[in-house]
Amino acid sequence: MDFNLSPEEEAFREEVRDFLAENLPPKHERGTDFLQKVWLPKVREKRWVGFSWPREVGGGGGSVMQQAILKEEMTRAQAPPLGTSWMGLQWVGPGLIAYGTEEQQQRFLPGILDSEVVWCTGYSEPHCGSDLAAIQCKAVREGDSYTVNGQKIWTTLAMASDWIILLVRTSTDPDDKHAGITCLLVPMDAEGVTVRPIKSMSGVSIFAEVFFDDVRVPIADRLGRQGEGWQVTVMALANERSGISEVEGLLRSLDRLKALAKSSVRGGRPALEDPDTRRKLARMETTIESMRFNGLRALTRQLQGEGPSSETSINKLHRTTLEVEMGELGLLLQGNAGGLMRGAEPVPDGGRWQRMALSWPELVIGGGTPNIQKNIIAERILALPKD
Ligand SMILES: Cc1cc2nc3c(=O)[nH]c(=O)nc-3n(C[C@H](O)[C@H](O)[C@H](O)COP(=O)(O)OP(=O)(O)OC[C@H]3O[C@@H](n4cnc5c(N)ncnc54)[C@H](O)[C@@H]3O)c2cc1C
Repeated sequence: MDFNLSPEEEAFREEVRDFLAENLPPKHERGTDFLQKVWLPKVREKRWVGFSWPREVGGGGGSVMQQAILKEEMTRAQAPPLGTSWMGLQWVGPGLIAYGTEEQQQRFLPGILDSEVVWCTGYSEPHCGSDLAAIQCKAVREGDSYTVNGQKIWTTLAMASDWIILLVRTSTDPDDKHAGITCLLVPMDAEGVTVRPIKSMSGVSIFAEVFFDDVRVPIADRLGRQGEGWQVTVMALANERSGISEVEGLLRSLDRLKALAKSSVRGGRPALEDPDTRRKLARMETTIESMRFNGLRALTRQLQGEGPSSETSINKLHRTTLEVEMGELGLLLQGNAGGLMRGAEPVPDGGRWQRMALSWPELVIGGGTPNIQKNIIAERILALPKD
């Protein structure tokens, strides 16, 4: 691939950098209102919220390369998010743009772009996550509405969301599980919706169980046709995922780990001089670099109009392995302090490695488990037979 940016792309990178230099003060100077009152209105005005969306629906119409540049620069600068509804921006919006009616686009897209409406995602159920086509949450059509009964689980941010994008079963055909799936948009305050938060072992509740008891959903709030929910989901999830921006985040974690190794003592000298620690750090750095090139490969495919590629699974697999290894090394380098609870004093790096070590199952499982990523790599990249 050609690593050079075109003059227009270079100019765009400069524009982003200049904006950040002017508008992003250091973290300790930002204040509590910074995100909502200062940052979000400014990035919205630049049309960087929903940057990949067409301008006709309020997005930025950014090219694939510009999107990659924007994400990379934002991550590098540790900028706040470009909106408060991550899932709304990542897949609800793109799903609405591709499958929504004009009325639905006008009703839902501005709320996402203006960070006024928060969305969550109701896909997984107690008995199925990887095998999403096996969902059982049922919707029965009665006149102008559906009646929904069933349960979702691991619904991230369900407690703080206004709407849920929900996959339901509208028919059962044993020969085609996918054809019986429909996508509905449901307000979280609808009668019959109950949210029960789940506490994870890191002590926080980021996800919840969501129960649907005779919840009425108007036909007007169905996204796509009945039975088209699978296509809606596949399309909506297949957004820009080259993963180049996450390389920046990992490099920052690695820098912190190196600093910790420098200040920790092993056998009377800094752990950074210890051969085993050096080997681990070097392997991490090499993996991150390989992720950068793999991300560029995925980006190249997108630029050539091939759409999102399965190679992103390689980076997802590397990232989760790396995060687990980083958490472990962080704890190890701290010696006894590695066992301190976060919030305890003095806990090195503000308890960052403790947090990472306790939340690794979430990082590893969310977005598809390692086994599922390996299946994708085996079948779609290596062309091995389906298991
Ligand atoms: C942090 C986090 C956030 C999440 N947020 C959401 C959300 O907002 N909305 C939502 O709907 N869901 C969410 N999930 C759920 C997530 O999508 C599922 O947990 C995930 O898809 C795995 O499904 P499962 O838990 O049912 O496990 P299962 O699919 O039952 O998997 C159990 C084990 O079997 C293995 N396995 C399964 N199938 C295969 C196979 N074909 N080949 C080899 N091994 C296999 C898996 O790798 C795993 O080790 C979230 C999960 C996490 C951890």
